[in-house]
Amino acid sequence: MSILFTNVTAVTMDPADPVLKDAFVAVEGRKIASVGAERPQGTFDRTIDCTGKVLMPGLVNAHTHVPMALLRGYGGGHDLQHWLNDWIFPAEAKLDDRCVAAGAALGLAEMIASGTTCIADMYMRTGVIAKTVLEAGISANLSCGGLYFGDPADFSPEKCSDCQNQTVLTEEWHGAGDGQIMVDASIHAEYTSSAPLWRWMADYAQKHGLGMHVHVSETKKEHEECRGRNSGLTPIQTLDRYGVWENGGHAAHCVWVSDQDMELMRKKNITAVHNPVSNLKLASGVARVPQLLKAGVNVALGTDGVASNNSHDLFEEVKLAAILHKGTTGDPTAISAFDALSMATVNGARTLGRDAGVIAPGKIADLILVDFTHPNLFPCHDILENLVYSAAPSNVVMNMARGKIIYENGEFLTLDLEKIRAEVKDYALPHIFG
Ligand SMILES: [Zn+2]
Repeated sequence: MSILFTNVTAVTMDPADPVLKDAFVAVEGRKIASVGAERPQGTFDRTIDCTGKVLMPGLVNAHTHVPMALLRGYGGGHDLQHWLNDWIFPAEAKLDDRCVAAGAALGLAEMIASGTTCIADMYMRTGVIAKTVLEAGISANLSCGGLYFGDPADFSPEKCSDCQNQTVLTEEWHGAGDGQIMVDASIHAEYTSSAPLWRWMADYAQKHGLGMHVHVSETKKEHEECRGRNSGLTPIQTLDRYGVWENGGHAAHCVWVSDQDMELMRKKNITAVHNPVSNLKLASGVARVPQLLKAGVNVALGTDGVASNNSHDLFEEVKLAAILHKGTTGDPTAISAFDALSMATVNGARTLGRDAGVIAPGKIADLILVDFTHPNLFPCHDILENLVYSAAPSNVVMNMARGKIIYENGEFLTLDLEKIRAEVKDYALPHIFG
């Protein structure tokens, strides 16, 4: 399939030239074929007139737990530990494959309609999620969030269920859909496992060339208790001792990381995935994003699961990432509009090993159209500022993932929303909540 976008105003995410006007963008198969002021030669299967709209790279949600869409807002008013132990874990214990499929489909529908084209997801029953992602059409780095609560002396990979889950997930799904799905190695967090799992996961990632997805220093309690258990070493430093970051990684949250952690993150190519809404809702704190950027750390954005958010709206994360640090530092230039958009696009793509997140020839065609004729985007004095501070999911009128249009003018082209709603209402919710 070849598609030509005409009359394009494009936010390319090229720092030297971020906005192109009156351009043509051609897509051939899965990739962007050309970007320029001249109409490209040849015929196209379809032409899309972009007058009044802005074409930009699809959004990358670099930390989420998509089936938690079923638990939207569940257990509000608690900090992370009480929320997990008293609300989330008991509900999750009731999930079966069918619930996870329904929750994943619902979460993916919300993401697709709000402009997301690529995610990094960490959740159990991951093969079920992979199937749903494959149908939905977006790209995903999937991981199962390795846990190990047993005695370290008793650890064996054969008996550790998450070592087995990791192995099966990699063998069945890594590279599926011609690279649409990639599998990451994963440790849920330092406080939910111990050294033998970290060593095994680090070796496994090395052996199979996988990325690494971990929750890191989300709360002060987690950060300080880790230092108490590990001779003053922080979670990032502790895991580094076991080789966990040899392929880099996506470290979700990083609210309490130290200056030394930031130096290690830069050296080891560890991306800080900023989740401002979830961190504020669970009262975990505010990540020091301006310092992370100054230290040369790649910073991406995530929503976290919608139980602690309560949406998959990345435009909200972009706006919050842009304003929050201005407020905490007293510096209105702390995070620029371009920086905030980079976190939601090219920086996320970079940590997930995706050749996307920018509009340029040869890149994966993950593209969205934002309708700037909506009242909340008019007038427009600065396109980047409107995207960061004024745009909303309802402004997204097209989602193209890997060169295929999967959502257009409110219509889902790969998912059946009515069927998903019925499955959630009639099966998943009664199954979990009775
Ligand atoms: Zn999380």
